Amino acid sequence: MKRVLVTGGAGFIGSHLCEVLLDRGFDVLCLDNFFTGSKDNIRHLLSNPCFELVRHDLVQPIFLEVDQIYNLACPASPIHYQYNPVKTIKTSVMGTINMLGMAKRVSARILQASTSEVYGDPQRQPQTEDYWGNVNTIGPRSCYDEGKRVAETLMMDYHRQNGVDIRIARIFNTYGPRMALNDGRVISNFIVQALKGEPMTIYGSGSQTRSFCYVNDMVEGLFRMMEQEQCTGPINLGNPEEFTILELARHILEMTGSSSEIIFAPPLPDDPARRRPSIKKAREILEWEPTIPLKEGLKHTIAYFRGLIFGG
Ligand code: NAD
Ligand code: UDP
Repeated sequence: MKRVLVTGGAGFIGSHLCEVLLDRGFDVLCLDNFFTGSKDNIRHLLSNPCFELVRHDLVQPIFLEVDQIYNLACPASPIHYQYNPVKTIKTSVMGTINMLGMAKRVSARILQASTSEVYGDPQRQPQTEDYWGNVNTIGPRSCYDEGKRVAETLMMDYHRQNGVDIRIARIFNTYGPRMALNDGRVISNFIVQALKGEPMTIYGSGSQTRSFCYVNDMVEGLFRMMEQEQCTGPINLGNPEEFTILELARHILEMTGSSSEIIFAPPLPDDPARRRPSIKKAREILEWEPTIPLKEGLKHTIAYFRGLIFGG
């Protein structure tokens, strides 16, 4: 039985990944410091004999024996990664060094959860993996964007210098059940606001775009990339369907049957204007593409938040 370490395993994507790995017969070690993750996300896994939980901060070294590492530990929502920016960049840089050191020591394969943010405010549409990006080094998003860029560099250097078996997955906006109520990203914010009958706040004009991938599709992409031989990446994983933030707000308003009003707040600094992945590489190399359209994914996500807010 393969032993798999999932850092950030008590978070939104990590908890779904742990669940899928257990279903597929892996022995799962979940490591988390519970900054944005929660025991509630993995409580249902705690009684599984193939599941172990370690409370640990990835900035500190740790010595474990595993066959594969999914390195997901890092706050992903702007409000959370900007809460303690120095800690965010330390998590990406020192955390990734610690995990690469472990991968080198025990000859484990390691997959890094990178991000579409490595493209910054992209000037090329859609984003292909050979695009080097347009990133501000000194802005409020830089702790996250630059941390993830250094993590990619570290992955490639450990690969070239030490022969570490690496996978770099560039994840685009992902949503679904188990996003925290206070996550602060756009889909959870809009759904929670709509369900509570509060105003839905659009930052800026709402003409900025994003492409939203349902979490089950994302986990399948990450799994396929880990299992694929000879595939360092980077590979974009995301849903290429692009929506404006205003369109998203209207969909959520309609699907929740809410009477919330849409209000416009000042734009966020360095907010990317457009974002859409090219997933040609993922289609060719991983035979992967998203299967769950936005409306279907929103239906599941709205049901989840309804349960969280109103019970039942
Ligand atoms: P999340 O915040 O729900 O999960 C991150 C997890 O990492 C949390 O459980 C948190 O407690 C843990 N963590 C943070 N710092 C840590 C540290 N120093 N030591 C140990 N654990 C730590 O976010 P998510 O959406 O599940 O994102 C998971 C990964 O995917 C992140 O690396 C993120 O950058 C990447 N990603 C996510 C998206 C997205 O849209 N969800 C997009 C691009 C990349
Ligand atoms: N956004 C918004 N209202 C919110 C939260 C976010 O209008 O309550 C906008 C935000 O300005 C950005 C987009 O939605 O243009 C996506 O933001 P999110 O934080 O979800 O992800 P990211 O900016 O990291 O892609």
